[in-house]
Amino acid sequence: MHLLLRNIHIVDPSISLDETGIDLEIKGGIIARIGRGLESDALVRDLGGAVVAPGFFDMHVHLREPGQENKETIASGLEAAMAGGFTGVCCMPNTAPPISDPYVVSYIKEKAAGHLVELAICGTMTKARQGEELAPIASLANAGVRMISDDGSAVKSAEVMRRVFEYAKMFDLLVTQHCEEHSMTAGAAINEGRVSTKLGIPGWPSVAEEIIIARDILLAEYVGGVRYHAAHVSTKGGVRMVREAKARGLAVSCEVTPHHFTLTDEAVETHGTMAKMCPPLRTQEDVDAIMEGLRDGTIDAIATDHAPHALHEKETDIVSAAFGIIGLETAIPLGLSFLVKKGRLSLSQYIERSSLAPRRLLGLPSVAIKQGERANLTIFDPEKKWRFESKDIRSKSHNTPFIGTEFTGKVVGVVAKGNAYFNES
Ligand SMILES: [Zn+2]
Repeated sequence: MHLLLRNIHIVDPSISLDETGIDLEIKGGIIARIGRGLESDALVRDLGGAVVAPGFFDMHVHLREPGQENKETIASGLEAAMAGGFTGVCCMPNTAPPISDPYVVSYIKEKAAGHLVELAICGTMTKARQGEELAPIASLANAGVRMISDDGSAVKSAEVMRRVFEYAKMFDLLVTQHCEEHSMTAGAAINEGRVSTKLGIPGWPSVAEEIIIARDILLAEYVGGVRYHAAHVSTKGGVRMVREAKARGLAVSCEVTPHHFTLTDEAVETHGTMAKMCPPLRTQEDVDAIMEGLRDGTIDAIATDHAPHALHEKETDIVSAAFGIIGLETAIPLGLSFLVKKGRLSLSQYIERSSLAPRRLLGLPSVAIKQGERANLTIFDPEKKWRFESKDIRSKSHNTPFIGTEFTGKVVGVVAKGNAYFNES
């Protein structure tokens, strides 16, 4: 590949780079030159001022393979990630079989090999996500998993969780919890509050999330020297506890999904089961706290929790419907429309939370837009107005409440591993 990206706006917070009207030449996958008015015999692509950022990384996606290939496969999930502007994703282990042993890790690695999008793998914390016996954490670490989690459920036993921390510490693995006190959420479908009462739907109280975050922070502090990450934080109290833990110097981090910073539980009234998530959409007060957490860095990363489901699992009543939505192809448009365009985050803060932080948390090599570095880039037009339609979806599943949404900001393409991909404009 020999490519000249002309007329771009480079933003790389890792080296405080923010320049417009610049050109970037990529040769053999490496950034060969950055400068103004570059001349080259490369294939030239005029990007009309589009933003070029370090490749975005989504640290929490469900690719459903092995086991539920009707919903998504590793191949279709990585295609959706690429079209959505990501150069890397981390797949969660609630597959069938779950990612509880090194054989499943190698199976997934083989399936992902050669794709432009890099795939990091999350292994389980306990055997088959049962929450009882520890998974073979050493073998998983040796097989190359970057973090461990029983995502989809929380580890119930504090004692088991303590042992998870002790083992993870030996391998410096990030421990990611799906924070849910299951005794308080059995049968619940949406946030417990005004909307659940009005509609008569069993509610999922915010405290059920916060109890687990609190317990885990205490355990992480007790064991010491561990890196703890709360997945898809959705409540004001959760954000506050992570902020306090960071202030005490603990290696505690968290992420938020685009749906949790754009929607509240009121979306259930218009979108029905397409607004059923786990954790559920919360209240405006929670969304405001999330915005503040994103701004002040309490929330380290934006992650989609991309959760493909067959339509029949959503086209049912709210209590029986599956939790979650696809997210890879709407994440950047939502981030640009709701965070950057509305002035809630600067472009540079947004890129930090979407690219640099997730790679750092997973212990992956950093990427930078510098001469001599591997070209790993996400390209988007932050001003482009467009409407998201079902036909745009590359994922095998279509469960999203955002079909028909007018966005400001569109993904132009990605460059990684010596390859480039561009969406049709
Ligand atoms: Zn989860």
